[in-house]
Amino acid sequence: MLLPAISATDQEADLVDQFGRHISYLRVSVTEHCNFRCEYCSPEEGTPYFDRDDHLRVEEYDRLIGLFAHLGLRHIRFTGGEPLIYPHLLPLIESAKRHGIGKISVSTNGLLLGRLAQKLLAAGVNNLNVSMDSLQAGTFAAITRGGDLLRVQQGIEEAVQAGIPRIKINVVLLRQHNGAELPALVAYAIGKGVDIRFIETMPLGLAGSAAQDGQYLSAEEARQLIAERYPLEPAEAQADHGPARLFLVPGTQTHVGFITPISDNFCATCNRVRLTAGGRLVYCLGQEAGIDLLPLLRGGQGDGSVAEAVRRGIWQDKPQKHFFVSDPGRSARIFMMRLGG
Ligand code: SAM
Ligand code: SF4
Repeated sequence: MLLPAISATDQEADLVDQFGRHISYLRVSVTEHCNFRCEYCSPEEGTPYFDRDDHLRVEEYDRLIGLFAHLGLRHIRFTGGEPLIYPHLLPLIESAKRHGIGKISVSTNGLLLGRLAQKLLAAGVNNLNVSMDSLQAGTFAAITRGGDLLRVQQGIEEAVQAGIPRIKINVVLLRQHNGAELPALVAYAIGKGVDIRFIETMPLGLAGSAAQDGQYLSAEEARQLIAERYPLEPAEAQADHGPARLFLVPGTQTHVGFITPISDNFCATCNRVRLTAGGRLVYCLGQEAGIDLLPLLRGGQGDGSVAEAVRRGIWQDKPQKHFFVSDPGRSARIFMMRLGG
């Protein structure tokens, strides 16, 4: 395919793709491993072996974070796998802060949050997403294949007490598991004074594809189920709020968001790329297009040429949209915990 030439304005812009989307958000996977095995995300037996030498070292993450900051990064999210099991997470958060990145987020399953919440705040985290798909201990254990709901809830409580500024509960919509408790999950968020977001299940990896079968519940149906108990007022999205459709529960602090990767494609406003723990920069969730940065870093390339490879790669190869609906088999090959959710 013949690409349009990069215009003078685009060349001066930091990171931009051929569809005119500016990339200012990097999701960094710090590990492929996890202490839960959610049925929509993880193989039942856990993640495959991953050689330590193939993993980015702390100083390599730091270098890349600095390089992206130079290329106009405004928002970084540490994710995985489960980022709180990665022993060097706090220094990486400090690195993001040192490099001047304003919005520093962490996505976690919350199991280890109780003892880390204060430290995350002190290191510079100002956005925290905690995944919690059910308020029933048995259902929660079934979804996560053994997860301890009480400890996750204690973790959320610690994060609230610590004063982490923006906390969101993330709920994957699973008709059989949590379709009947969506208003109760909203009540929980209101009680804690935090936000909550409901996400349509994506056919990511074999686990995601299997979970979608029979469990899919659209965000619109979820909104209607919640609206039977709570009025939902459409809310102004803040800048860089991501693709969620937002509502406010009147008389509370709680925003309820719906993320619709399946029923309402939002790729046109995509502003993100992902860095795997193996040093691959992936341009789109659900596709393999990307560039391996590890050989460049370890091959003695200077910052200028690594940055140029990133800029070129995003310009040339960031896909226009995902194929979750039109060609789900393509996304099923992707391994979500490797990609960084
Ligand atoms: N372990 C952390 C957690 O659970 O929040 C961070 C990584 S996890 C892969 C990031 C997010 O991706 C979680 O909110 C999880 O629920 C979501 N996720 C994983 N697989 C999914 C799927 N197939 N469809 C939709 N969301 C998914
Ligand atoms: Fe682990 Fe998060 Fe995937 Fe669940 S969703 S298996 S907690 S990485």
